[in-house]
Amino acid sequence: MGGHALIVGGSIGGLLAAAALRARGWSVEVFERSDVELAGRGAGIVTHPELIAALQAVGASVDDLGVQVSERVAFDLAGDRVAEMPYPQIVTSWTRLHQLLRALLPDGAHHLGRHALSYVSEADGVRVSFADGTTARGDLLVGADGFRSSIRAQMLPEVQPAYAGYVVWRAVAQETDLSPGVHQRIFAPFGFFLPRDTQIIGYPIAGPGNDLRPGHRQYNFVWYSAVPPAALDDMLTDTAGHRHAMSIPPPLIRAEVLEAMMEDARTRLSAPFVDVLTRGERPFFTPIYDHHSPAMSEGRVALLGDAACVARPHVGMGVTKAALDALTLARCMSAADVESALKSYSTERVPAARTAHDRGQHLGRLIFDSGGSDLNRDGRHHPDMEEIMRDTAVAI
Ligand SMILES: Cc1cc2nc3c(=O)[nH]c(=O)nc-3n(C[C@H](O)[C@H](O)[C@H](O)COP(=O)(O)OP(=O)(O)OC[C@H]3O[C@@H](n4cnc5c(N)ncnc54)[C@H](O)[C@@H]3O)c2cc1C
Repeated sequence: MGGHALIVGGSIGGLLAAAALRARGWSVEVFERSDVELAGRGAGIVTHPELIAALQAVGASVDDLGVQVSERVAFDLAGDRVAEMPYPQIVTSWTRLHQLLRALLPDGAHHLGRHALSYVSEADGVRVSFADGTTARGDLLVGADGFRSSIRAQMLPEVQPAYAGYVVWRAVAQETDLSPGVHQRIFAPFGFFLPRDTQIIGYPIAGPGNDLRPGHRQYNFVWYSAVPPAALDDMLTDTAGHRHAMSIPPPLIRAEVLEAMMEDARTRLSAPFVDVLTRGERPFFTPIYDHHSPAMSEGRVALLGDAACVARPHVGMGVTKAALDALTLARCMSAADVESALKSYSTERVPAARTAHDRGQHLGRLIFDSGGSDLNRDGRHHPDMEEIMRDTAVAI
């Protein structure tokens, strides 16, 4: 069976779906609400063998995919090593993955500035309506429009993301901007700082233009920090007093919010990671939400990636999960008709997404519900430090 697929959302999940369906003989159109090509979101992405195999299966080149790390290392407050474990892994970036996948899609099949509002089932097809008044018709509609998905809101209005009680601060520093001592200590491994009730992760990623040469790479910093709902309200409010729903565009984060975060970092974080924050580009935060959908299809409409389910990023599985959704969707499309193909897709992927979701929640609870102060000045590391190091960013 081949047909025409409409894909809402042109981020990694949408592009993976487009590539996987095209590889199975489908024509596709991707509709992204952003007016401009999506670009670096300052985010590192951990890869897994399953993701690399999926990229190869859809025809993406995995040469120079990212930086190879060989071990996981936990540091203490002073920046000394307190735990180590060998764990080879390729760490890459959102930008790199997006470039690889975008290159597989012809420009004519990629539409920017198209904000999908709703869909309607028609005889032998599905039609989607956009905010600019246009519509498009296809045999299949894929909602790859992220955790605030409009497509999911129509399909499963009862599924609402729930705030997990903490945010993740992220920042990227140029390798050469780090002080030499800090670079020497933390740059090469997949690094952790794991006192109670917080988690810091850092690892090297390619520099601008996917530059993997020593001296031209960047360091990716990730800090999970508890924020009560009332404080989150304030953090999501911009200088004009507008309270953003669920997340705030990074340039609109108020200076006071950044200053408070830096103050907090200086008192709580391991010294090398404070150095990264001080010397890196402007940090930004994302609140962590949970949601999973009990079904990933209805009629001719499928949900994929974060639109279907968010696994907290401790598991480092979001992109891999989206890739496996995309491959499964395309494989199921060999069934006799779209609706039964999508039923098979949903049956297969709902439990897989749920497993990743549950693992993310488990890790989050392990990190934040450790029942103690988040300081480790006296050497009190998280009691489950080894489990957290072993299970973070590992495919399941
Ligand atoms: C701190 C952090 C670290 C992470 N680390 C990892 C990692 O190491 N490994 C990993 O695999 N995953 C990781 N993830 C998760 C990963 O980034 C996401 O799971 C993944 O990017 C989701 O991709 P997506 O395409 O499903 O959704 P999104 O990237 O959210 O994309 C949705 C797209 O849809 C567009 N859109 C939204 N609404 C509409 C609409 N109505 N009409 C048209 N377009 C629309 C948006 O503009 C956006 O481009 C991490 C996430 C975070 C927050």
